[in-house]
This record gives sequence, C-alpha cells and structure tokens, in this order.
Amino acid sequence: MSREEKTQKDMFDEQMREFESFVENMKDSVGIPTFPDMKTGSLQWYDQRWITTRFIISVEGIKEFFDKLLDDKFVTTKCGVCGEIYFPPQKDCPRCRNSNMEWIELSREGVLVTYTQINVKPYSFAHYRDYIVGIVRLPEGINITAWIRADDPGSLKIGGRMRLEIVRREPEGYITYEWVPLD
Ligand SMILES: [Zn+2]
Repeated sequence: MSREEKTQKDMFDEQMREFESFVENMKDSVGIPTFPDMKTGSLQWYDQRWITTRFIISVEGIKEFFDKLLDDKFVTTKCGVCGEIYFPPQKDCPRCRNSNMEWIELSREGVLVTYTQINVKPYSFAHYRDYIVGIVRLPEGINITAWIRADDPGSLKIGGRMRLEIVRREPEGYITYEWVPLD
C-alpha cells in the first residue's frame, strides 16, 4: 500500500470528524448535541465514547495447533473413536462427545469452493486493503476458510487448485495462514 493511499478506516475517521464538528457547532448554538436527521428531519441525539475490546480466550486445549503453525505445519484434530476430522481443531468430538482426539497433519493443497471480495469492511478491519475470503476443500473432505492472496482476483476460478501458506498478518504481526491460487 502506498503511503498516500487512504484506507476505508481513514475515510470513515474523516467523515466522523466532519460529523463531530457539525455536532459541536449544534451544541454551541442550541446547547445540546442534537441534530435533525438528514432524511426525515426528526431530532437525533449524538454522543460518543471509545470502547476497547480485548480478547482473552483459552486455547490450551488446542495448543498443538499453534505450536505446529509456528513450525510451519498445518494440523488439526481427528476423533480417535468415530474418525471425524474437524477444522478448526476441537478438544472434544462434538459428534460422539469423547476427548480421544488425535492430531493429524493436513494437506496443503485443495480446491476452491467459493470466494468473495470484501469491499465494505467492518470498522475493525477497515485498515486492511480490500481482501478476499475463500473456502477451500481439502482431499480429507473438510473445508478451510481463509483469506486468499491473489494478484488478480478476477483470475480466481471455482474448482481451481489452491495452496495454503503460513504467513505473518500485518500490521498485527501474528502468524496465520492464507490461500494462494496455483493455476
Ligand atoms: Zn467422534
């Protein structure tokens, strides 16, 4: 991304600043932070406060997945009783409700089932460029949803071969995986 290129987050923040200064003017002239709705003219109250959301989720039960990912391996769990393979990995088998799970290494190639390009992003994703999310079916019979890295999204083909790559997601800087077209 070039330094000058605005992300959707930049544009959203800019709009919000304009909106805030408009409401500030209203507050100064009317005394309360209200404004008429542009379409209906009905009175709206404007207020804001920042909310930070922090995630702390136990992943102890699927620690192996992250250990292997950091070792450039892609693994998941298979039920030792019914044989069902799950992705994301599960600590217990949701089908037969036992904890006898085995770790297996998954294929790194599959077939594109479907994909979509995300142009209108949720605010917390608005700092990314438009991204593509795709579902790829592995020979093991399971589907893996991940971002697709493609220079030309128009060249993606349903049924096309895809390769999984373990990558670092920026600017957050953590290790994750994404699909890359092979054809
Ligand atoms: Zn099972």
